[in-house]
Amino acid sequence: MDKKRVLLLLILLTLVWFSCSTLSYAADTAPNHEGIVNLRILETTDLHADLVNYDYYQTKVDNRIGLIKTATLIHEARNEVKNSLLFDDGDHLKGNPLGEYLARIRGMHKGKTHPVYRAFNYLQYDAIAIGNHEFNYGLAFLKTALKGLKMPAINANVFSVKKNKPYFPPYVILKKKVVDQNDKQHELHIGVIALMPTQIMKWDKANLEGKVIARPMVETAKEFVPIMKAKGADIIIALAHTGISSDTYNPETENAVYYLTQIPEIDAILSGHSHSVFPGPVFIDLPNTNMETGQINRKPVVMAGAFGSRLGVIDLTLSNTEGKWKVVNSTSFTRPIADENGKSLVKTDKKLYKLIKTEHEETVDFIKKLGL
Ligand SMILES: [Zn+2]
Repeated sequence: MDKKRVLLLLILLTLVWFSCSTLSYAADTAPNHEGIVNLRILETTDLHADLVNYDYYQTKVDNRIGLIKTATLIHEARNEVKNSLLFDDGDHLKGNPLGEYLARIRGMHKGKTHPVYRAFNYLQYDAIAIGNHEFNYGLAFLKTALKGLKMPAINANVFSVKKNKPYFPPYVILKKKVVDQNDKQHELHIGVIALMPTQIMKWDKANLEGKVIARPMVETAKEFVPIMKAKGADIIIALAHTGISSDTYNPETENAVYYLTQIPEIDAILSGHSHSVFPGPVFIDLPNTNMETGQINRKPVVMAGAFGSRLGVIDLTLSNTEGKWKVVNSTSFTRPIADENGKSLVKTDKKLYKLIKTEHEETVDFIKKLGL
């Protein structure tokens, strides 16, 4: 081989090496979205049987309330993203004349689904929490109503006295097909646990005494989350039917969210019960709270007011490293159905209205007959 040829070969080899290294360099630094999943979690809470934008006490339209309005926000929020889940945080059966009329006057028609649960079935909630007010009409009524529900209804801290076990399914692990930022499909195992204030034993003594007991919320969560992890939950969401307060911890606290955020395995908290809005000005002085991202102790929290007035949203970014999913970013916010003056911001979900119209009209007729 003469000198010229050797030189040519060297040049060629250098070129090949250079282009290869550039290629591999490009591959190393190109954004790799595989295993990055955006997951939106939606919340309704404390609906108190307000399905329709109607004030039964004043017998007139009220556009600040009603799931037939929130439903439109649910559809919109779902359409904006690839992956979403919808939960109700409890206190949905009682609190207005429609709820009273069904439970105490007309009763549930045999084989017919309660209109609140008919609405939940139509909106395809992924799971719902039992709230303290669900006990107000007694355990038998609740059990009958739940028969018509097509998704899990859960609570972990109300225990059967007889069996010394949770009275309801304490948690569920939902198998959710999601797509990552590269449109690659993954199956996420989403653990969902629900809790409610122990004060039910006082508030609903007549309905509950001797039948169930309520265990402290934070202790119960600490007991169940390792079990959920062991059963394969990639992430854990708490349907915490309880409010937000940083008062010194007490196991019987009615507002446990602040302390639930300190349980490492819990990734996101849907709050309720106190009818407040989080993130929102009410909580401006809460320690370790980021009002921009809606995080308390760096955990995403949301509370969507009451009566369907708002939809709660938590946007999570999850990343997968060596088969383990982790929340790497989150933003919580709420969207209202009306402005401060009560002017409606969203259309009515007419399909949903049609589904529950009969009971709404019966309630209105009943009130009118009473001359109230
Ligand atoms: Zn409540």
